[in-house]
Amino acid sequence: MDCEQSWSLLSDFRDGALDDGNRALLSQHLDGCPPCACILKDIETIVITARSFSTDNGLEYPDEETFWQRIAVTRRTVH
Ligand SMILES: [Zn+2]
Repeated sequence: MDCEQSWSLLSDFRDGALDDGNRALLSQHLDGCPPCACILKDIETIVITARSFSTDNGLEYPDEETFWQRIAVTRRTVH
């Protein structure tokens, strides 16, 4: 699995929505690829942040578009 494939699966991976084969392949990739492991952490941070900043305090958190833009920036930095 290359980085690009892993990015397309990370969100489902976090949600536990991947089948066994893809999950194993992605885990293997993440073990050997710190930048992708970092992106997975970013996804978790965003999800946790989104949960804790729910409707009551009006704080803004990164939406999905912002998130993917960040990945694009990370990608340029990595390569
Ligand atoms: Zn990677």
